[in-house]
Amino acid sequence: MKEKIRQYIDDNKEELFKTIQEVVRIKSVVGNEQEMQAYMKKKYEELNLTVHEVEPDYDKLSSHEAFIDSGIPFKGRKNIIGIHKGERDGKSLTINGHVDVVSPEPSANWTMDPWGGEIIGNKLYGRGSADMKAGLISNWFALKTLIDLNYPIAGDIQLHSVIEEEAGGGGGTLACLEEGFLTDGYIATEPHNLNMTVSHAGILYFRVQVKGRTAHAGLAHEGVNAISKMMKVFSELDKLNEWRAKNVKFELYEKGSGQAVHLNLGVMKAGDWVSTVPGKATLEGRIGFIPGETRQSIKQLIHDTIMKAVEGDEWMKEHPPVLEWFGWATDPWYQDPVDPFVKLFQETAEDVMERQVNIIGRASGNDARFTQYYDKKGICFGPMGENMHGPDECVHLDSVVEVTNVLANYMIHWSESTSILEGKSARPIKQKA
Ligand SMILES: [Zn+2]
Repeated sequence: MKEKIRQYIDDNKEELFKTIQEVVRIKSVVGNEQEMQAYMKKKYEELNLTVHEVEPDYDKLSSHEAFIDSGIPFKGRKNIIGIHKGERDGKSLTINGHVDVVSPEPSANWTMDPWGGEIIGNKLYGRGSADMKAGLISNWFALKTLIDLNYPIAGDIQLHSVIEEEAGGGGGTLACLEEGFLTDGYIATEPHNLNMTVSHAGILYFRVQVKGRTAHAGLAHEGVNAISKMMKVFSELDKLNEWRAKNVKFELYEKGSGQAVHLNLGVMKAGDWVSTVPGKATLEGRIGFIPGETRQSIKQLIHDTIMKAVEGDEWMKEHPPVLEWFGWATDPWYQDPVDPFVKLFQETAEDVMERQVNIIGRASGNDARFTQYYDKKGICFGPMGENMHGPDECVHLDSVVEVTNVLANYMIHWSESTSILEGKSARPIKQKA
């Protein structure tokens, strides 16, 4: 079967590439996913899948511990799910892809058209080409391959085409899982360079505000400079970052991202007039953390670090910095790498690609973390890409072909693995008819 699959994909790869080009040309910046979803719905219908549309329900989702509020209203923004019913008892599988992309601005920094989908040699260019429309279309094409080859897949295959991964995934993948679209295994084809990702860091965003006292620059000695005060806070947080970079270790993240944790101080705003002593300064940061650390312990750590900056400063003792947490707030995600779901995938990928496949973790988040709240197995595996979220993003087409091959083979191996791995059949739970 492996050779038949390879032959089919090879004979039809122009269709695979053309479809990726078509979807890259759809400007589906997060919040504007509808046109893409109409396209995906059509693609799923072409395969005679049972299609479900899931519009996120804010009231239902907002109380979930993993929910991240993107602030973008959900009305009219649907997730599309296509289900291929299994032929007999077998393990079920979800293959997930997000349709939203980040803005290409400033597009003047691109040498290629961000919405062109142009192919030069082995590279297909455009915003979202790698992250992650190539993966999304590979998912569809892998299933199409088995259907066209009349292969009777044992278990159910669900294709999830989701919104707002880039904004936290609360209305996307989480909404689909919360609606009961759960299977025995889950793969997101994020562009992780043909590595298997089984874990990512926890992430929290925070904001610090420091007060000063405004005064005319000619009477600056009567004012209190909020920028000077904030620099003390900045400096302590920066020291904490250096300390954590050296001392907080997690091998999987070092493998995937070079360093396990980062405390990035990304935004600082202060002052409004050169001739006025600034009365207010704001600093925003993002801190990553590893399994074993908790949201609560990290919040305490940031609080204590800021209070350390206040020590010995009379003004800041009287006007203490105000700390708040906003936006992204996620636990670390950790999928046991020796689970049969992971092991079998690695064996399949290595067999199909005829090379070693690494198991890694990453310092940045993705939707696979949501599986842990439903006690489900999940990994990421996807093509090689360059410049994700930057100018001249592109995906390597030979790797897209490899991913599609691996997925098609794994659909078979996983769904037929029941007796070998656990000796019992696991049917999807809570699945909608
Ligand atoms: Zn992505």
